[in-house]
Amino acid sequence: MNQTILDERKSQVHRIGEEPFAMACNRPSLAGAVSQRACVFCGSRVVLYPIADALHLVHGPIGCATYTWDIRGAISSGPQLHRLSFSTDLQEMDVIFGGEKKLEASLRELIQLHSPKAAFVYSTCIVGLIGDDMEAVCRRVSADTGIPVLPVMSEGFKGNKREGYTAACKAMFRLVGTGDTAGISPMSVNILGDFNLAGETWIVREYFRKMGVEVVANVTGDGRVDDIRRCHGAALNLVQCSGATMELAKMMQEKYGTPFHRVSYLGVEDMAESLYKVADFFAGHDPSIKSRTVELVRAELSDLMPKLAELRTDLEGKKVAMYVGGSFKAFSLIKAFRHLGMRVVVVGSQTGTEEDYKELAEISDPGTIIVDDANPLELAQFIKEKDVDVFVGGVKERPIAYKLGVGFCDHNHERKIALEGFVGMYNFAREIHASVMSPVWRFMPRRSPARAACAAKEAVNG
Ligand code: SF4
Repeated sequence: MNQTILDERKSQVHRIGEEPFAMACNRPSLAGAVSQRACVFCGSRVVLYPIADALHLVHGPIGCATYTWDIRGAISSGPQLHRLSFSTDLQEMDVIFGGEKKLEASLRELIQLHSPKAAFVYSTCIVGLIGDDMEAVCRRVSADTGIPVLPVMSEGFKGNKREGYTAACKAMFRLVGTGDTAGISPMSVNILGDFNLAGETWIVREYFRKMGVEVVANVTGDGRVDDIRRCHGAALNLVQCSGATMELAKMMQEKYGTPFHRVSYLGVEDMAESLYKVADFFAGHDPSIKSRTVELVRAELSDLMPKLAELRTDLEGKKVAMYVGGSFKAFSLIKAFRHLGMRVVVVGSQTGTEEDYKELAEISDPGTIIVDDANPLELAQFIKEKDVDVFVGGVKERPIAYKLGVGFCDHNHERKIALEGFVGMYNFAREIHASVMSPVWRFMPRRSPARAACAAKEAVNG
């Protein structure tokens, strides 16, 4: 294994075929390794932020709130309150004397100004250290204003990003069960773990509409507080991002008996399979849902497959590296790349579990590198070693790709193009094609032997 990988990190990297499968994961990032991972606070923030009619107040120093405007595309079809970023901006004196008064004043002012349906208050590292009683402040303000004011216990230092998902789910769970479920169809679902980054929740909702299935709540893309309050009335939870909202699904199953299915709206097979799963679930109630679903998938595929075949002629044999947040996405993308004739040779995630990685190892090709909680040096090393043509990741991975002169596809929070559903698969294929086939790469030294020789000569001559 290369020297780039610190000794303490070696157990979090696996090369398929070179050794029996064994991977350490789901543990705190190694200090000093400059992990690509976000903190606990960020984990909870990205899950809750798309709830568009809620107030999101970060209780902490302003630095924690910097990466918040447009932290996700998370488009809303109505209110835009989620796109405003609020912070209590804790200063030295607050750290010494406590920030509760400032928090309470901020909450009262913001609620009066914006009339939100609920407020989420995020705890940060410093709040965990000084010990502000957020729960008591939220309870007081909630009693006076009449809206739910929910503390999110997301102190950045208390674990890895997954802890943030848990904190977010616990906060949302306090809303669930407080709304009226009258009038909800027996054929109804909640969409969990889709964040409507580029309008994808709307694509999926439209499929369900055509199948005759009601969507009660989007959790959380284009989310609304009142929908979440009554979502315990839905017959089924569909959980996409397994890390982010699985806890909520489990809590709802335990308390309300709502069953859940894991789904993915990415790629061809997984999208179709997810729709079929829903059709199977409701077939006892309405047998005709199966034929409606088959017809829907058939119509979508007859449009999509010829277009994919066209793009495949250029992409056949190209190599892919991907680094994603939750590993559910990696499963779907590996299958999606196979439709394009491409091979995934490096795959990693921030928050995968042992089962996730085991499953990844089973579906990946021999020689593929699997990595947990990577850092930029490791990713750059793997990309060079495998000589990849395109890197799929998010905002923190983009510069790594461009510095190394390989194509890049943003499949994360900041993307502006819908990549889910059948139409999303075509958008994805076009994105990959445009990046991989860009003429700019031929000017990179590593792609042009003559230029590489020239660069080497220049380096020698100073
Ligand atoms: S919560 Fe802590 S780790 Fe997260 S951004 Fe704030 S200071 Fe940094």
